[in-house]
This record gives sequence, structure tokens and C-alpha cells, in this order.
Amino acid sequence: MTLELELHGCRAGYARLEVVHGVTMSVPTGVVCGLLGPNGAGKTTLARVLGGVQPLWGGSLRWRGDDIGRMPARVRAREGLVLVPETDAIFPGLPVRDNLRVFARGTDFSAVLDTFPILAERLNQQAGTLSGGEQRMLALARALLADPRVLIVDELSLGLAPAVAAELFAVVGRRAAEAGSTVVLADQDSDAMLRLASLVYVLDRGEITFAGSSAELAGRVG
Ligand code: ATP
Repeated sequence: MTLELELHGCRAGYARLEVVHGVTMSVPTGVVCGLLGPNGAGKTTLARVLGGVQPLWGGSLRWRGDDIGRMPARVRAREGLVLVPETDAIFPGLPVRDNLRVFARGTDFSAVLDTFPILAERLNQQAGTLSGGEQRMLALARALLADPRVLIVDELSLGLAPAVAAELFAVVGRRAAEAGSTVVLADQDSDAMLRLASLVYVLDRGEITFAGSSAELAGRVG
């Protein structure tokens, strides 16, 4: 078993307020890992640390054994570690087509239109006027265009109808199964998450309170 990501003793926060207190977690290669927890637990902060848009105040982060704690987000993305953030994931003022063009950097983006056929119908529509689900699809399409080896997705299902959320989770699941990508899903939607994730971490007030398989967690909760 190869470890894709190893976070050790991670501390992070805002201004002088520490909100993640020494989190240690590892994610094996090719696994879908769920990061669950209540509001304010620190899931977004941790996802941002993994993506490189939030500084690591303490501890270390290794990717396939290499220390990437100080590697800028754009370098991580170029190397294949891509964050789909909770907010600001798309250019709302640009049409869908131009969003995809920017993300595809001049290469063909038709494959993501096969994945998200609704986006093919919305190519001329301003991205900011898409429905919430369509905007998340566009954000996910952006990440998939980068051909990620590691996909970190923050709140994929936030505010979405269960059927739309299920569709998005299915796309992520296929990516892991077909391309062997490693996926970290920070989300509150525990049912959809537990169906997909084989490894789950529960975060509460900035600390890990559970680490194990989704079956173990389901047994504990239910
Ligand atoms: P949610 O599910 O509500 O998004 P979360 O588990 O993702 O919650 P975070 O968003 O990481 O949690 O927030 C963790 C803590 O950090 C919370 O107490 C939150 O108020 C605080 N926090 C988040 N963003 C900021 C910020 N920009 N400035 C100051 N504090 C922040």
C-alpha cells in the first residue's frame, strides 16, 4: 500500500486563531477518503491546507513521500494535486465555454462534456447564472481537465438536491475507479460520502475523533 498523502501534526488557522489542532491523517493511493464533521469542524481549512491555499502553521505534509508543505497551490495543481474549493471555483462572469477554455489551456475539453452533458447545453451561458449543481459540475470539470492524480473536493454536495449530489459523487467515484486517482471529499453529506469512501476521518473542533473504514463508522453511528 502506497501512501499518497501524509499529514502529520497539522496546525492551521486564521489571523491568530488556530482552528486545526495537530491533525495527523494519511490517505493511501487510489482510495476515496471522506473527511466528515459538523459545521466549523475545520474541514474546509484542512482541505485548503492539502490544496496549498492555506498555510501550514505547524506539522508536515508529504505527497508520495516528498515534503510539499511549502509548495504553492499552482505548483501542486500542475503536478496533479488539485483542489475544488467550496467557493470561487469558477469565473462567474464568463460563459461556460470560456471557463472550460481557460481550464483546458487550449486543449480539447469535449471529454468533460460527455461527463456533464448539461454543460454542453449551457456553453454560451454565463457561468454565474448556472444552477448550484451546474456550477459544481463546472468546478469539477475544471479539476478533471487538469487530469488530477489527487483530487481534493470541498463540500461537493452543499446546498444541492440529493439526486444532483449523487450524480456528482458518482463522477468522482468513477474518476477514482477508472483513473486510479486518490480522492479526498470534505463534506457534511455523510450518507453519500459513506457509500463512496472506503476510509473516513471525522473531524470535530479541529481534531480527528474517528479514523477507520466507512463500515466501521456506519456501525458506530447506526
Ligand atoms: P463548514 O462545514 O461550516 O464549512 P468546516 O468544517 O469546513 O465548516 P472551517 O470552514 O474550516 O470548518 O472553519 C473552522 C473554523 O475556522 C470555524 O470556527 C470558522 O469560524 C473559522 N474560520 C473559517 N474561515 C475563517 C476565516 N476566513 N477567518 C476567520 N475564521 C475562519
